[in-house]
Amino acid sequence: MKVVINNINVSIEKNQTLELKKEIIKRGIKEENIEKIEYSKRSIDSRKKTDIKFVYNIEVTLKNDVDISSLTNVNPFKENEEVNYKAKDGIERVAVIGAGPAGLFAALRLCELGIKPIVYERGEKVDDRDKTIDEFIKFSMLNPNSNIQFGEGGAGTYSDGKLNTRVKSGYMNKIFLELVANGAQEQILWDYKPHVGTDVLKVVVKNLREKIINLGGEFHFNTLIKDVIILDGKVKGIKIQNLKSPILVEENVLFDHVILAIGHSSRDTYRMLHKHGVFMENKPFAIGARIEHPRVDIDTMQYGKMCSHPNLEAATYSLTYNNRDEERGVFSFCMCPGGVIVNAASQEGGTLVNGMSYSQRDGRFSNSALVVGVKANEFGDELFSGMEYQDQLEKKTYDIIGNYGALYQNTLDFLKGKTTNRKIESSYEMELKSYDLNNLFPEVISKNMKMAMGYWEKTQRNFISEHANLIGPETRTSAPVKVTRNEFGESVNTKGLYPIGEGAGYAGGIISAAIDGFKVVDLAFATL
Ligand code: FAD
Repeated sequence: MKVVINNINVSIEKNQTLELKKEIIKRGIKEENIEKIEYSKRSIDSRKKTDIKFVYNIEVTLKNDVDISSLTNVNPFKENEEVNYKAKDGIERVAVIGAGPAGLFAALRLCELGIKPIVYERGEKVDDRDKTIDEFIKFSMLNPNSNIQFGEGGAGTYSDGKLNTRVKSGYMNKIFLELVANGAQEQILWDYKPHVGTDVLKVVVKNLREKIINLGGEFHFNTLIKDVIILDGKVKGIKIQNLKSPILVEENVLFDHVILAIGHSSRDTYRMLHKHGVFMENKPFAIGARIEHPRVDIDTMQYGKMCSHPNLEAATYSLTYNNRDEERGVFSFCMCPGGVIVNAASQEGGTLVNGMSYSQRDGRFSNSALVVGVKANEFGDELFSGMEYQDQLEKKTYDIIGNYGALYQNTLDFLKGKTTNRKIESSYEMELKSYDLNNLFPEVISKNMKMAMGYWEKTQRNFISEHANLIGPETRTSAPVKVTRNEFGESVNTKGLYPIGEGAGYAGGIISAAIDGFKVVDLAFATL
């Protein structure tokens, strides 16, 4: 028999297993009846810096059944019920464009339904992609098809691999179990802020690929989808280009069903879809810079004197500021404790940054995006006005530096509007050039960043200091357009085209993209 106990507080200083046992006994369960204790959730309560606590929800397996009504604050354990879907008749194969989290999990779900997914990915397999990115960092020569955004595992591979999502979905449990079965840490099943790290993600992505192949799927890397063949508002196939071939090799492949999992950076693909009249609309996104601190400063900000306690991991934060007059939010985003800032360019002649980390999160610095919300039509009324603005900012930065470096400014100097006239220490490995970011961003961005920073400075110790630097720009926080779909997961005006994940505007992060992949396959191709 299994029972559930929620909200147990244990000081980080104490022996966790022993204390949990004491709490179970306090609720009326005999020690000799406890067979196994498993965490279902663990979070941190650091509001009182002198007494930081872990807060647990646990599942306790008992050797013998007990009468739960005789126990205090103990609940029965309920199994998750899985719905058994089967494939609709007549669907044998589906093309999946993009091997990011959305595409990979869509492919996996198709396999589970007995439908063959054929996955096309413009970037390289993860091992080759790794070498290409190393060379990019060393020589500043970008491969526009294989980089931090594009390649096996998508944008999620070189990430912090934090798995938080605000999306509530029955698919979530299944996705976490799948990640663990393919090499992710078991801790993600119960940690309140689960994260994997790029080193482990690379293994997971390869294992997922192998699993999909073993279940009957197919992968084509270095294969760009140049065109989708659409006749009378219906998908008929795709035109593929083999990018490894020294001569131009293009081929039409017939498909009735194409899943579009292209992520938010495939600007050429958005344009190609627009040319065919596939319905899209502008959507809000955000622009700003990374803010980087010595890790110890953030750990101290969050944990006070306890910051070096061995039971505590590198600290995270999540900050928001609301400019009511403009109905505009400024927020920290994609925080990478103990992580590094990386160049996330995917277009020649344009540069931008993002953040990632390794599973141990033990780097010297912690970074996070600090971005300002941008409204759908803020940079113009055309469909691609927002995307073009991102592009311009990336190109402007490249032209200032002359390569795929990044611009930096100390936070105090940014607030004063003065260029930083000293070198800074940073995790960023490519060229860093000092620049007054007030002259890079339009006023709406720099003004709102400054308002938020001024506000946070008052409450968050160390957040603005001579050690805290802005490194930017960060332009690709989410897709600037939405490829709108109907309730069956299909494009509203193109039959047989299924836009999913971040690039379609239906997800923002690894887990929500994965959930969207599962969900749309069930909506479009499954029945009870
Ligand atoms: P993507 O992962 O972007 O995958 C799309 C894939 O489609 C790409 O591999 C691309 O090459 C391929 N593609 C595009 N066009 C074509 C074409 N025409 N032909 C063939 N292939 C094509 N999210 C989190 O939740 N946690 C994090 O810690 C986190 N950190 C991040 C760090 C970095 C550096 C970056 C860049 C992103 C991070 N994100 C993080 C965001 C997360 O990676 C994305 O939300 C997620 O990967 C989106 O999944 P997706 O499958 O929709 O798209």
